[in-house]
Amino acid sequence: MQFDNRYSRLPQEFFSKVEPTPLKNPFLLSWNRDLAEEMGLSDMTENEAVDYFGRMKPLRGGEPIAAVYAGHQFGHYVSQLGDGRSILLGELVTDSGTHWDMHLKGGGQTPYSRGADGRAVLRSTIREYLCSEAMHNLGIPTTRALAIVGSEEEVYRESLEYGATLLRAAPSHVRFGSFEYFYYRQDFISLQKLLAFMVKYHFLDFSKFSQKEQALAFFESVVMSTAELIAQWQLVGFAHGVMNSDNMSVLGLTIDYGPYGFLDRYDPAFICNHSDHSGRYAFEQQPEIALWNCRCLGQALLPLVVVDIEQMSDAAGEHAASEIREVLAKFQPHYEQMFEQGVAKKLGLKKVDLEQDGGSIATRWFNLLQNAGMDYSRSFRLLAKVQESVENEYLLREMVLEQGQLSSWLAEYRVALAQESTTSEQRSMSMNCVNPKYVLRNYMAENAIKQAVEGDYSEVENLAKLLRYPYAESPEYEKYFSNPPEWAAAISVSCSS
Ligand code: AMP
Ligand code: MG
Repeated sequence: MQFDNRYSRLPQEFFSKVEPTPLKNPFLLSWNRDLAEEMGLSDMTENEAVDYFGRMKPLRGGEPIAAVYAGHQFGHYVSQLGDGRSILLGELVTDSGTHWDMHLKGGGQTPYSRGADGRAVLRSTIREYLCSEAMHNLGIPTTRALAIVGSEEEVYRESLEYGATLLRAAPSHVRFGSFEYFYYRQDFISLQKLLAFMVKYHFLDFSKFSQKEQALAFFESVVMSTAELIAQWQLVGFAHGVMNSDNMSVLGLTIDYGPYGFLDRYDPAFICNHSDHSGRYAFEQQPEIALWNCRCLGQALLPLVVVDIEQMSDAAGEHAASEIREVLAKFQPHYEQMFEQGVAKKLGLKKVDLEQDGGSIATRWFNLLQNAGMDYSRSFRLLAKVQESVENEYLLREMVLEQGQLSSWLAEYRVALAQESTTSEQRSMSMNCVNPKYVLRNYMAENAIKQAVEGDYSEVENLAKLLRYPYAESPEYEKYFSNPPEWAAAISVSCSS
């Protein structure tokens, strides 16, 4: 294994050196072969994986650190957070030169643990492991997950649980809150260094620009990639649950899987996080919250947009703020365009207009889904063949009590399809490439966790396999396409993990 630990070459203000704490009786619970291959780790044996990610044998060439950051949590600024229970073991470099942060979640306390134990419980590592790979296979940018190591380490949450680790991998774990940390401490030198670091290693195209231009180009890239990411979440029905600015990646990756949830029935006000009493992070709020978080990042970048921070005047500050606002203004139109294009693809139509006065066919579809409480993913998936398959229409109708609205919408949809130039085969094929057959519903994760807690890890493997090809028809997995069981609606997921 080759390492090039770039982040740990930053000054000491950015991180603390740490050592992971071994788990009691660790064992390899699951190993992601696809990712291992991408990372050039196919040859790693089970014993080695347990050595490195459970017994905490140092990786030769690694340099374990915990990064410091801050962030707005539920709207309030918290001046110091950081890797409280995850440790950057080192930055792996593959033969082709790709860098991977090897981040061990649950590896014990760090200076940023704030009195907590630095551990992760088995259930939360399973949820993150399955979901991050599910998102990746859906084509949504995300951190990845290489392995889960289970153990007999006792960890206390609401009750006694077992600790586990998750090896998370990503090109970078820098968050909006990493910039906020230095901005609010008025450490503008470190702020400059963080920007320079990101440009040098992740946004090389900007390297010829002045610092001000770099800051604006970087910001625009974050704003645009965040808008795209959120459009993808909304299209697939993913609710993150804790969109604090410390849980927002500057690379536009889905990061920090906690109390997330995929929509079962379509409810825009869906709140997946049990602790989110006000619904700040409700499903329909996500685009607005993402923009709010971008505003936080924009604020933190302000000193870099002012040409000479020493000569900072009110006028210079106001000019910089207006330049940041100009970039921020690009979020909403970009989000709307991405979302609208995505909805059109999901419906198999060339174009839809979600702003149309009096509502369009697409808005009427969403109204129908909501009024009838139809299952989000199933409804879209069934639509692909609703023309040809009596069964698909039957399955759609089964989700609806009052048939009138569905009948008139289907009639309208058939007229719209007749005006499309594609054949119905082409259309249903392309619809099936954007409407997943399988998503990781909470009840599926719950079942896998229940069994895992009893020592049976087969359902974790089974779901990992199923979610590798979320858009494919897999007859042996048909049961995962049926309506979720009734108890699914009562599942509540908390932040405690
Ligand atoms: P999260 O909401 O999971 O992103 O966590 C917010 C902050 O709390 C992060 O800085 C985490 O590192 C820290 N944290 C959460 N759980 C633990 C834990 N069990 N031990 C130490 N730090 C934790
Ligand atoms: Mg976090």
